[in-house]
Amino acid sequence: MRSDHRPLAVFDLDGTLADTGHRQHYLEGRRRDWNGFFSAAVDDPPLPEGVRLVLSSAKECEVRYLTGRPERCRRDTVAWLAVQGLPEGRLYMRRSDDRRPARHTKLEILKRLGREYVVRMLVDDDELVCVAAEQAGFTVVRARWMRVSPALEDAQEREGRT
Ligand SMILES: [Mg+2]
Repeated sequence: MRSDHRPLAVFDLDGTLADTGHRQHYLEGRRRDWNGFFSAAVDDPPLPEGVRLVLSSAKECEVRYLTGRPERCRRDTVAWLAVQGLPEGRLYMRRSDDRRPARHTKLEILKRLGREYVVRMLVDDDELVCVAAEQAGFTVVRARWMRVSPALEDAQEREGRT
């Protein structure tokens, strides 16, 4: 455990900092268009409540980003964070071949971080991720400021893609 290091504040992106509402229609057909869904992320409006929480957390914590977006979205995502004026921070993404639900992939990374650093909090909008993180002993802030479509929630859980 690195006690000399600032505590970490770990933020999800989709539904926490980025408003995915305009691209949820990609997931609503019978055949979900995940490429379309992720490609359109560059146009996400920021979610002001989430952005405010990042900026206030950054005064005491080191900010890191933990998203279910796949690695191929890294460039777009880093650029989006910069455009929103969000602090630079390590960005953990899903490996392209990893289809497990976010509550598994994210918890794995969170636990790894928790062995090395003090994790002050995880901020995420996915209830299943929040519950899993709490069960593992993390402090969780639920991002409840974006309306989530039932299609996205269902897709997250069953296909583990975001
Ligand atoms: Mg999310």
